[in-house]
Amino acid sequence: MRGHAAGVSVVIGLTGGIGSGKSTVARLFTELGAVVIDADAIVHELQGPGMPMLAELAGVFGDEILDSDGALDRKALGEIVFRDAEKLARLNAIVHPQVGAEFGRRLQDALAADEALIVLDIPLLFEGRRKGGRGASSLATQATVVVWAPAETQVERTIARDGCTREEALQRMRAQMPLDEKRDLADHVIDNSGSLEDTERQVRALFAELTEAAA
Ligand code: ADP
Repeated sequence: MRGHAAGVSVVIGLTGGIGSGKSTVARLFTELGAVVIDADAIVHELQGPGMPMLAELAGVFGDEILDSDGALDRKALGEIVFRDAEKLARLNAIVHPQVGAEFGRRLQDALAADEALIVLDIPLLFEGRRKGGRGASSLATQATVVVWAPAETQVERTIARDGCTREEALQRMRAQMPLDEKRDLADHVIDNSGSLEDTERQVRALFAELTEAAA
């Protein structure tokens, strides 16, 4: 036991917008002892070199989606499905069920291990729900947490992190549900517009609130 009552793991959904600080907050939760299950990391793992899903994707979309090392060339795959709804649907039909199953396995493991706080890191938490809640986002969470920052801060941090242009950052941001909308849907908001110390304080307080409520 880790100082909380048995069988009372708290499960929360964590999301944000590009550059808003979701990965940073997920790391802070991990440091406090939460178990973070990261949807994007699972996608990358399952599509790693030598994984069955990668072979399946190459079988459907051709070897041009592989780079010279046999790893997935995400840009090439993205270009194939970008303007072709049918191909995108085929891609999703391969990826979503397998990622969802692995996500579910990890959640079951964390629940079985009686972890105090389990954080489901899901970029499209609310978008998935809006479309009928399929896949990882339909997993039951007790609360949702949105990491928020002003749009201009999102753009600046994305440019600094990815070395992309302002236009590219804006384009990626506009493809997402507006972060202010996500903030309005969330049970808890981490305001990441200030310093990292300020954000860390908020995460620490939320961690305590969520785990104490369950104890
Ligand atoms: P997301 O996962 O939401 O896209 P990240 O956590 O990767 O966002 O944060 C985007 C970038 O901004 C990263 O380089 C990160 O180190 C930086 N960053 C995050 N929060 C802060 C902050 N409060 N102050 C300064 N830089 C930050």
